[in-house]
Amino acid sequence: MAGKKKSLCEKCTGLCCRYLALPIETPEDKQDYDDIRWYLCHKSITVFVEDGEWYINIMNKCKYLSEKDYHCKIYDKRPRICRKYNHKDCDFAEGEYDYDLEFTSDTQMDEYIKIKFGSKKAGKRKPKRRKKGKKKK
Ligand code: SF4
Ligand code: SF4
Repeated sequence: MAGKKKSLCEKCTGLCCRYLALPIETPEDKQDYDDIRWYLCHKSITVFVEDGEWYINIMNKCKYLSEKDYHCKIYDKRPRICRKYNHKDCDFAEGEYDYDLEFTSDTQMDEYIKIKFGSKKAGKRKPKRRKKGKKKK
């Protein structure tokens, strides 16, 4: 991550230091999906599925990424996650992501919920009042 020594990092603007992706529980019912819709109501949040695992993606730059040279300002003290990050298959090297699913807005999730679980109204017509018939004399 934003390394000084890796040649690939020298050509990159520190893409891997501009977000954090955290695993979330796999949604099971409509309420779970609606909770994810709530995440997506917030700015700079996306949700993606990779190899069947669900993640929340928070697009927020690390405060130690220098915008002058895109190096890490605390390189020698950078956290374990940064040290362990494998730059061989990083964001810059791999290019476009190949997610199973990606949600970038709450409205997108809303549509997905409707398709997956169906609309409440769908197939449920309100019972009509029967018209009063005139009694035959
Ligand atoms: S995205 Fe890859 S190339 Fe760019 S700084 Fe991070 S590890 Fe280096
Ligand atoms: S601490 Fe350094 S290497 Fe880690 S995310 Fe921040 S800028 Fe990148």
